Amino acid sequence: METNTLDKNTPAVISSQQIKEIIEKQRAFFNTGGTKSIKFRKQKIKALKKEIKANEQAIFDALHKDFGKSNYESYITEIGLVYEEINTTLTHLSDWAEPRQVATPLTQFKGASYIHRVPYGVSLVIGPWNYPFHLAILPAIGAIIGGNTCIVKPSELTENTANILAKIITSVFDEKHVAVVQGGVETATALLAERFDHIFFTGSEYVGKIVARAAAENLTPTTLELGGKSPCIVDKDADLKVAAKRIVWGKFVNAGQTCVAPDYLLVHEQVKDKLVSQMKAVINTFYGEDPKTSGDYPRIISRKNFDRLSLFLDQGEKIIGGESNAAELYIAPTVLDNISWDDKVMQEEIFGPILPVLTFTDLEEMIHKINGRPRPLSLYYFSRNKKKQRRIVEAINFGGGCINDTLVHLGNPNLPFGGVGDSGMGAYHGKASFDTFTQQKSIMKKATWIDVPLRYPPYKGKLGMVKKIMK
Ligand code: NAD
Repeated sequence: METNTLDKNTPAVISSQQIKEIIEKQRAFFNTGGTKSIKFRKQKIKALKKEIKANEQAIFDALHKDFGKSNYESYITEIGLVYEEINTTLTHLSDWAEPRQVATPLTQFKGASYIHRVPYGVSLVIGPWNYPFHLAILPAIGAIIGGNTCIVKPSELTENTANILAKIITSVFDEKHVAVVQGGVETATALLAERFDHIFFTGSEYVGKIVARAAAENLTPTTLELGGKSPCIVDKDADLKVAAKRIVWGKFVNAGQTCVAPDYLLVHEQVKDKLVSQMKAVINTFYGEDPKTSGDYPRIISRKNFDRLSLFLDQGEKIIGGESNAAELYIAPTVLDNISWDDKVMQEEIFGPILPVLTFTDLEEMIHKINGRPRPLSLYYFSRNKKKQRRIVEAINFGGGCINDTLVHLGNPNLPFGGVGDSGMGAYHGKASFDTFTQQKSIMKKATWIDVPLRYPPYKGKLGMVKKIMK
């Protein structure tokens, strides 16, 4: 009978020695080939889905305790997405894992070429607090379906969700396959001091750089899912009624604490007043006269973030919302006008329910302005004009986004999700998760019944022939 390094009631603090022991166990298990059969991978994620289903209420309760999230929001943004990811994977995993045959050049006659997808080995997943269930478990699913072992370190700021996550993982997986290690910066630092075969990090740009530096020590392949300031552009020909609803939803879901939330609004001068008044009406319909009393409007995660966001409330002019309550960590859905590109609120990712509004008149100037700033994780463009839609997609560098909507691109498991430049590197979801957690191993299989002598010395008289083939 094997012993578990982690007790079922996982202690909050874990020693470096315990971390080393789990990694050793996982490496030994990986080396037995135990993670590799496709049947085993499928069985495990099926069991995971069953266990999540059995614990749905406990997940709702944990998310509510952590930051007042409603069950509905928790289902669509934390649990439902995980089910969809598992369903997609169960349908396609066998196909994704098949070696792919590719063409072989004539110079390699008689050969056949294949790409095999093989797991890296022991992987590490570090999660943030803002979607603490989904952003820890979705990458872990990628690691499992890729045939890796995995250590998951959820955020310490959402302790209740981390506890239920640990309970679910411990019931489905042996620690030699998947383990949850809880703790804060100290624990993350101890984990990063060890050698992993792949690291998947979701969080801030600042910590992303720490992770990348640590990974560089061991040349560990790393996926970084970071944040940034995602623009939301509304052009003069947009359907303003629909835009208002979709922007308000995308900005204020999770009280703006969403990596892909519209960070700021760039609206064509001609339609600004109309859009803002539509948004005001929509906020009222969604959350009522006093959003503080709405069961559908979450709270800010911590006092530290509340204080950081409060400084933004003094910027420009509050044209919607602006109320806050420190005792309840509440900030109303807020829209700020009279903001310039140089204001503090435009210098860092907001990550809260505050939306600054800027205007534009010339699309090309606006493209130039965005391209002069760090590359955003997402971008949203509202317009009916197909030519302009295409221009925006092609002219601006950003991770991904939507035309005439916000956020929903990340809900499609067939679309790789990730950033570029300052907003991250690599991608996941669906097949992209499988690709991220597997190495492409290239194999050329040669026949032995023929051995074309062209490549062997002496080379005299062979150059002319090679030039005819490799031209
Ligand atoms: P964070 O970077 O503070 O923390 C993320 C994780 O890193 C946590 O588990 C934390 O314990 C750990 N960590 C913190 N300091 C560390 C250190 N010095 N060394 C090693 N590990 C450390 O991020 P957060 O506040 O939890 O999340 C907010 C950020 O995450 C925002 O920038 C947001 O845009 C980004 N985010 C990105 C995505 C995405 O998918 N691209 C999703 C959610 C959040």
